[in-house]
Amino acid sequence: MIPKTHPRYKSLMLREKIIDGWKKGIVATAGLIAHGRGEAFDYMLGEKTTLPAKKAIKAAAASLLLSKNPVISVNGNTAALSAKDVVKLAEVIGGKIEVNLFHRTVKRARKIKKILMKAGAKEVLGIDEKLKHIDVDSNRSTASPHGIYNADTVLVPLEDGDRTEALVKSGKTVIAIDLNPLSRTSQTATISIVDNIVRALPKLYEEVVKLKNKNKEELKEIIEKFDNKKNLEEVLKLIEIERYKSHRSSRTSRSR
Ligand code: ATP
Ligand code: MG
Repeated sequence: MIPKTHPRYKSLMLREKIIDGWKKGIVATAGLIAHGRGEAFDYMLGEKTTLPAKKAIKAAAASLLLSKNPVISVNGNTAALSAKDVVKLAEVIGGKIEVNLFHRTVKRARKIKKILMKAGAKEVLGIDEKLKHIDVDSNRSTASPHGIYNADTVLVPLEDGDRTEALVKSGKTVIAIDLNPLSRTSQTATISIVDNIVRALPKLYEEVVKLKNKNKEELKEIIEKFDNKKNLEEVLKLIEIERYKSHRSSRTSRSR
């Protein structure tokens, strides 16, 4: 049991979820390590949704509302941490959910589908259907003809750089959620949300609800005003600033 007073309580609870997902065969072994990389960046960003992340979330919400066939791509870590939030977001944007795994086994894919269905999904693509392939040299190339293959916008939380690049090259709008502003995913996506998925997805949902009644022109303007490269530079500056702050007083003390 992790006491609630522990300064890393939230972070440790997420770690428990990932470990639990691994024990159940949802999270791949490499997914444990990927989570650790995310944790490190989250720590450096103060474990909060930063201003640049908020800007990216707003642009992402506008983009999802403007797209005709948006799809959320789900892997093991995403399912273990955020199944319910994925379903909620898919519903509000009228989008589809598709399982896509780097370390793909049919067994694991079916387990992930089961979790998503339990969380309320009506349909989960990418399994038990004839799949197409996008131009990427790994198991991640699979794409459902009813989902990612024909999507105009793909939301890729915790994605791999090669696949992000391939999706962007194929002309799709790619929205990434990735805590590492330097990853190839963040660097190549159309809109990069540098935030923890557990904070970013609920905020993205809220933003979609807020913007839902705006007209197309207003939504387009939000996207046009957003500059992904500049936004990523702002994230890097924040990491620099956080380095000089006292971690001891704000985040390692138990006496709060
Ligand atoms: P890339 O292939 O894009 O260059 P990478 O190889 O460094 O990235 P991967 O292991 O492919 O990284 O993907 C994991 C990514 O997901 C990492 O960049 C990590 O920071 C991020 N990540 C892990 N956990 C979370 C989380 N909970 N929320 C958001 N991002 C996360
Ligand atoms: Mg990678």
